Amino acid sequence: MRKYVIIGPLGCGKGTQSGLLARDLDIVHISVGDIFRWHVKNHTKLGAQVRRIMAAGELVGDDLVEGVVRSRLDQHDWNYGFVIDGFPRNRRQAEFFLESYDIDGVIHLDLPDGEVRRRVLARRLCSRCGMDYNLINDRPTEDGRCDVCGGDLVAREDDTEEALAERLRLYHEKTDPVLDLFGRKEYVVAVDARPGVHEVQKAIRERLRLPMPR
Ligand code: AMP
Repeated sequence: MRKYVIIGPLGCGKGTQSGLLARDLDIVHISVGDIFRWHVKNHTKLGAQVRRIMAAGELVGDDLVEGVVRSRLDQHDWNYGFVIDGFPRNRRQAEFFLESYDIDGVIHLDLPDGEVRRRVLARRLCSRCGMDYNLINDRPTEDGRCDVCGGDLVAREDDTEEALAERLRLYHEKTDPVLDLFGRKEYVVAVDARPGVHEVQKAIRERLRLPMPR
């Protein structure tokens, strides 16, 4: 069983890298942000609670987040393990997590703030199927249209200049200390997130001594 946490600023490719690990290692990718976005999109009660907080780039309350993570992990559909992305994001969440689950590794995807801004403002998402695009290096064939399903491409509601500044500020204030906490336990591997997707994935595998991508 392999249990990993992936941490990095917005736009560092946490979702993409977790997806590749999950697919090849047969582990489950758990993205707390995706769970919240699902609730917002489907107008659930939880969605109503988090929508405004997310759009402003703020952090959802710890009790709520911990409840979501616990019930997701309680599904026990992760026989071979999981990679969790977007959690923990502050000290309290890290302590909660360490009390309940042992982990095999923390992947720290490192990206300078300037590059975060550049990438995030170029990010687009298909409003129908959820496929990701980036106007810098992963443009759709036809502007504004999804290559897979033809849906409209939109920016995430929290990918605005203001929300981006707030999310980056919170990342340094709240999540940097999480890396210090995990760092003391000696299982953090820091990987430069600037190269292309496949190079970053290879670096992660090397550092965690995992089989190379197929
Ligand atoms: P992400 O897709 O990981 O950037 O998450 C999108 C948004 O969901 C964040 O900006 C927060 O508003 C909320 N969120 C996701 N994970 C957490 C967390 N661990 N703690 C608090 N808020 C979170």
